Amino acid sequence: MLKDQDKKQQPVVLVVDDDMSVRLLICESLEQAGLTVKEAENGVKALSVFEQVKPDLVLLDVNMPKMDGFDTCTRLRQLPGGDDVAIVIVTGLDDVKSIRRAYEAGATDFITKPVNWPILNHRVRYMLRSIDALRALHRSEARLSQAQSIARLGNWERDIFSNKLYWSDEIYQIFGLEPQTFDATYEAFLRAVHQEDQTYVINAVDRALHKNKQYSIDYRIILPDGTERAVHEQGQAVFDETGKAIGMHGIVQDISKRKKAEARIRFLAYYDILTGLPNRQLFKEHTDRAISTAQRNGTKVAVIFLDLDHFKRINDTLGHNAGDKLLKKISKNLMVGIRAADIVARTETGKQSMTSLSRLGGDEFTILLTGLSEAEHAAVVAKRIIEHVSLPVKIDGQELYVTGSVGIAVYPEDGEDTDTLLKNADAAMYYAKEADRNNFQFYAKHMNASTLARLDMEAKLKKALEQNELVLYYQPQVEMQTDRIVGLEALIRWQHPEMGLVSPAEFIPVAEETGLIVPIGKWVLKTACAQVLVWHRAGFIPLRIGVNVSGRQFRQQDFVQSVKQILDTTCLDPRYLEIELTESIIMHDVEKAIAALCELKEAGLHLSVDDFGTGYSSMNYLKRFPLDTLKIDYSFVKDITTDSNDAAIVKATIALAKNLDLATIAEGVETEEQLTFLREQGCDQIQGYLISRPMPAEQVEELLLRHNTG
Ligand code: C2E
Ligand code: CA
Ligand code: CA
Repeated sequence: MLKDQDKKQQPVVLVVDDDMSVRLLICESLEQAGLTVKEAENGVKALSVFEQVKPDLVLLDVNMPKMDGFDTCTRLRQLPGGDDVAIVIVTGLDDVKSIRRAYEAGATDFITKPVNWPILNHRVRYMLRSIDALRALHRSEARLSQAQSIARLGNWERDIFSNKLYWSDEIYQIFGLEPQTFDATYEAFLRAVHQEDQTYVINAVDRALHKNKQYSIDYRIILPDGTERAVHEQGQAVFDETGKAIGMHGIVQDISKRKKAEARIRFLAYYDILTGLPNRQLFKEHTDRAISTAQRNGTKVAVIFLDLDHFKRINDTLGHNAGDKLLKKISKNLMVGIRAADIVARTETGKQSMTSLSRLGGDEFTILLTGLSEAEHAAVVAKRIIEHVSLPVKIDGQELYVTGSVGIAVYPEDGEDTDTLLKNADAAMYYAKEADRNNFQFYAKHMNASTLARLDMEAKLKKALEQNELVLYYQPQVEMQTDRIVGLEALIRWQHPEMGLVSPAEFIPVAEETGLIVPIGKWVLKTACAQVLVWHRAGFIPLRIGVNVSGRQFRQQDFVQSVKQILDTTCLDPRYLEIELTESIIMHDVEKAIAALCELKEAGLHLSVDDFGTGYSSMNYLKRFPLDTLKIDYSFVKDITTDSNDAAIVKATIALAKNLDLATIAEGVETEEQLTFLREQGCDQIQGYLISRPMPAEQVEELLLRHNTG
């Protein structure tokens, strides 16, 4: 923004003289030259006119009544704007004394009487030009100082011989010092520099003085009130013709704000905001460094991977806010546990070890152990971590108990770089989770391939469920006596866009491990019930549908409830639904299984034991289960005509079933010979390729028509 003085105006000259005729002559002459002229007849008047018109130049007579020219000049200089104007004193010819006094009083120049008019004009113009230049200089100085103050930057000079410093105002402000009280020597400056940075500054200055090296350095200063500030300084030495340093000059800038911003950026890049712990990036850098050190020293490094158990469930039920609080508290507990373990490790090994905790994201943490001599020491820390994670945590007045699963990978045996160690510790953690959670596992080579495949499969399977890639096939079950199809077993298939038809033997175990079996199982039940109802409505009553239920699915708290609900919504009569459970499932927790089975039985469902003969059923228990059918496993049926052992087992099973008043169905029947054998033994039903392979629903109706009416 331009100030008033920046605008180009016609210059104003103030003529002060008690002699009216002189004033008149001067006015006449200057106005002709295109200048604006104001008059005053004495010094006192001159002061007031000056304030009004702000002249650029004052012509001042020496001899005036009341106040002479010298006094007037002194007073004018003291007025606002008075130092920014040319004052020319008009003295008597050759009055040397007056000339000296005029300069002492602050005059810019003098002219002598009698006035030479043509010369006066030129003198005045010259004066006006120089006052213009002076004003421009003042303005640019003001701008510079304003700019310096905005930039928090000041300039300095140092005279080597007097050992004096010149500092601009801004440097005083940056250092929080007063020009009056500051000693303004190099030594006094050094005292204001942070103790730890002094040598650094001295070296830079010495290099500038002795080696003519410019410098550009950042250092810290301490203000008189104790606050710390970061400054940036650039400086260089000045030399005389002989090459001797005579001075220095440079700038100092306050960079505290920038440093703070940089620190914040560093924090965001390397730390986790929620817990304040190092993040994945910093963890990686630490581990990289630890590996290099371990390589040199022949020590070991352990990466411990911790994942909280069921954290997602807590987050889902209590909300993210509570989840965040929980993570914070657990981080604190972990810190305590790790510090304790650290001390133990250090005193036990006598070696310099380091432990650091990081949060990788979500509910995943890593602990880095360095300077280990034995991998087993990592187990001590892992145990402590598990203990400290499971300390009760109070969130919003509610006490929570969390557990964690831990995997450990050790350099060099389990990986030679950070990524491999992390990946393997993760795989080991996965195994810890599988093995009941709340424990730790050391990495073992076999873990990786299977873990990766499983993780891959898990991701794909999730998508399959969302994108309807799952379908049910149906395999008919035929009653021996009537040779009619009385039931169908629903068998799941996964139609993957790239992998093609995936066998349940491949993906059901993964679904089990990951818990995906629960939504998948519900989908199977719903789809199968709805489908059999369609066939009923087409006239194929009393067709029964068999559905396989896996262990994890069966053990769900609400399993029975969800089956009932599906029957309700599909409106299928429960007696047409058969649940197939393996021996191992019902033997897992016998009492619970009996209770659930009884409830299902009461609701009217059919229950069958799948793969019978492969597990270890206790006859005593078998009697207590409310079962309807035993399914003789395919592995026995396969060889009944060639292997007398298998034949004996099948015979015995059928006899046992009769004894328990249970029906029998043989699965995997492929040949007429097998069929004949089974018929002779009194097996009730058969299922297998001999009748039909499992097929899509569209083909079932045709088969039913052909088989049951033919
Ligand atoms: P499973 O319950 O023992 O099912 C019988 C398996 O034997 C089926 O294999 C079927 O296709 C096959 N099979 C039938 N007849 C013959 C035959 O004559 N010869 C031979 N060699 N095999 C025959 P699939 O469909 O591959 O299913 C494998 C297993 O996957 C099933 O064994 C069952 O345990 C599981 N499964 C299938 N669908 C589901 C489901 O919806 N839920 C659950 N939880 N498990 C399922
Ligand atoms: Ca089955
Ligand atoms: Ca089976």
